[in-house]
Amino acid sequence: MKSTHKLNHIGIAVRDLDEAVRTYTEGLGLTCTHREVVEDQMVKTAFLPAGESSLELLESTSPDGPIGRFIAKRGEGIHHICLEVPDIKAAIADAKAQGMRLIDEEPRRGAHNMWVAFVHPKSTHGVLLELSQPIEEAVES
Ligand code: ZN
Repeated sequence: MKSTHKLNHIGIAVRDLDEAVRTYTEGLGLTCTHREVVEDQMVKTAFLPAGESSLELLESTSPDGPIGRFIAKRGEGIHHICLEVPDIKAAIADAKAQGMRLIDEEPRRGAHNMWVAFVHPKSTHGVLLELSQPIEEAVES
């Protein structure tokens, strides 16, 4: 009985972030609410909310980055799906216990103030899966 997961966003690899943002805003009527560079992933990202989820457009800042290599191999397109979970460490442990192949065994900081960890597409029927959990700011009084 675990329906605590939420589809947080769908990541789309694009060649030109500005052009892609224009397509999705001017062409399709979405709004870009957030842009961020994630240095260790070598990406520039833009978030466009759609209901409870968002589209995340990703442009590589280097041909050697994961998005750069993805586009070189497959062209633009859907790159990953992100599920938000209540407890990312537990989600990683569960996936590992099931013999799933993890790209990140420990959560790391992703865009949008989230802990993230990727699961290999070989273990998810062909979809690169990002697990995420909002980073709680310690603001207890
Ligand atoms: Zn993502």
